[in-house]
Amino acid sequence: MDKASMPKLSIVIPFYNEQENVTRLCERLFHVLDSIQETWEVICVNDGSNDKTLSLLLKEKDARPGLVVVDLARNFGQHAAIMAGFAQCQGDWIITMDADLQNPPEEIPRLLDAFRQGHDLVACVRMNRQDSLFRKWASMITNRLMTRISGISLRDFGCMLRGYDREIVVGILENPEYRTFIPALAQFFARNPIEIEVRHEERVAGDSKYSILKLFGLQLDLLTGFSLWPLRVLFLVGSFMAFLGLALGSAIIVLRIVLGSQWAAQGVFTLFAFMFFLVGAQFFALGVLGEYIGRIFQAVRRRPPYIIGAVNRHEP
Ligand code: UDP
Ligand code: MG
Repeated sequence: MDKASMPKLSIVIPFYNEQENVTRLCERLFHVLDSIQETWEVICVNDGSNDKTLSLLLKEKDARPGLVVVDLARNFGQHAAIMAGFAQCQGDWIITMDADLQNPPEEIPRLLDAFRQGHDLVACVRMNRQDSLFRKWASMITNRLMTRISGISLRDFGCMLRGYDREIVVGILENPEYRTFIPALAQFFARNPIEIEVRHEERVAGDSKYSILKLFGLQLDLLTGFSLWPLRVLFLVGSFMAFLGLALGSAIIVLRIVLGSQWAAQGVFTLFAFMFFLVGAQFFALGVLGEYIGRIFQAVRRRPPYIIGAVNRHEP
């Protein structure tokens, strides 16, 4: 494609078993896109759905010039799917959003306004978030903790309605990290970011694709991918435990000399209690170390974050 026919705006949307939402989303999205001045393309990434998502997307693609369907070979996760979309998109401005209509497409013009004002990253903050209390509470803790320990200041790490200038996307693509967290990485590359408040809606149909376990994995990716804070805490806790152990050991030896062996036998259970505590702490330490070693292992292997099955473009 020559430069003149390149779209100005690319919308990247990951789909994983979203058959109930494909038609509804396309309807609302294209209605918005038809009203903007910029040329556009929509990259829908099918992340290994095992329902009718792909066939519905392909049907939409036949009817809509500018709609590209990227089909991943299997399920690789939301962030990997977005990376696959990034690699295919051609726009100067790129916007990511969810397929379940929790991010209203009607907010897109507001992101475009921010781009026009010269911002290279438009992060969105979900107002009146329509998720379970548990999710809201977990996000609040994550946002505060991450801002504190990573030095990346964001009010809403989790909102995937986000606009990126091409340069940022290129930066992200050139850093194929293992299991990355796109909003934090984008913030890292941004020169002139802005945060705007957007509406958030309830999931229209289908269930959240994140189980508690998957969610925990994502938080762990964010935490270990962007800070060494857990290692520092480990060091602090370890030092404190070692100091405590030393003090306790010395006290027991002194008391043993002063009070005799009978006293010592009666102290066996206390000792056991502390032994258990120490063993537990060591296991905790091994777990944290394991997380980092796992990341190093994956990085060394240089396994690609996704594998494309096919790229389907509209053919007139
Ligand atoms: N998604 C994906 N791959 C996955 C999980 C989710 O592409 O393995 C997509 C999903 O189809 C949706 C977006 O990522 O478009 C957000 O997922 P979901 O709505 O389940 O997350 P939540 O809103 O509960 O955080
Ligand atoms: Mg959702």
